[in-house]
Amino acid sequence: MITQPLIQNIDAFCNSKDLLVDVLRLDNVHTIISGNKWYKLSHYLHDASRKNCKIIVTFGGAYSNHIVATAFVCNEFGLKSIGIIRGDKPAKISHTLQDAESFGMSLVYISREEYRNKRLIIEQYSNPEYYIIPEGGYGELGAKGASEILASVNELEKYTHIICSCGTGTMMAGIIQSAKKHQTIIGINSLKGYPEIEQDIRKILPIAFIESKFEIFNEYHFGGYAKKTNQLFEFMNNLYEKHHITTDIVYSSKLFFAVDDLICKNYFLANSKLLIINCGGLQGNLSLPKGTLFF
Ligand SMILES: *Cc1c(COP(=O)(O)O)cnc(C)c1O
Repeated sequence: MITQPLIQNIDAFCNSKDLLVDVLRLDNVHTIISGNKWYKLSHYLHDASRKNCKIIVTFGGAYSNHIVATAFVCNEFGLKSIGIIRGDKPAKISHTLQDAESFGMSLVYISREEYRNKRLIIEQYSNPEYYIIPEGGYGELGAKGASEILASVNELEKYTHIICSCGTGTMMAGIIQSAKKHQTIIGINSLKGYPEIEQDIRKILPIAFIESKFEIFNEYHFGGYAKKTNQLFEFMNNLYEKHHITTDIVYSSKLFFAVDDLICKNYFLANSKLLIINCGGLQGNLSLPKGTLFF
């Protein structure tokens, strides 16, 4: 389904002379299911096929990369898909949802209140031909898939820190269980007011990893999920001009901003070797006015 991700070195990130800063370009593994999305979905789909379920049901918002990825992959596998979308149907549907529909996904819009109480909705799909994938692929199977991300990294052991973005924390749960013992895992939380993410990550770790150490930064959300500022756009454009790294407004821009900021504040000891996981997922950027970004 996807190609091997490459590693790109970015020298002198915030004048980081005595650090190594490498980027895992997971954003380039596929044009549609870029980033962590295929990794998180793969074990759910195998499970669905083992259980002979023919219709995949999943959840997301109007800009959810997970929704598009699920629609695309189900189409490839000859499965039907249903996307339960948070909020009433808008007059103009987002690019993300248009794409999902073009891959054959049926969209069902529900109010935010109903969405919060997913259990009732899930009951409607309790027939064995349906297979439910939680929002964002959150769960043990999603984390298990994400634990395969680091397998493609040459000389993985040389890194001292692995840094990723977090929405549900599923990818991070995968990184935690596949990193080397000496490595520090850092997550940059894109959601505001969600410090419980740490517990939610522990809940989906295999028992042997429940006590694992990791660090989450909760202060780099720029006002909240998918919120953005001119400072963020400027940062994204600079990063692109200097290093040809494209980032999205929801996750990876905030991830790189955070790393840059932490380097400037001397958070990392000299000679640290950082691996930043860039997950891409650029379709959310299409909602910006033309010309905002250089890419
Ligand atoms: C989906 C996505 C995430 C969130 O992953 P979780 O496993 O839900 O934490 C982070 N970054 C990017 C770019 C994504 O597309």
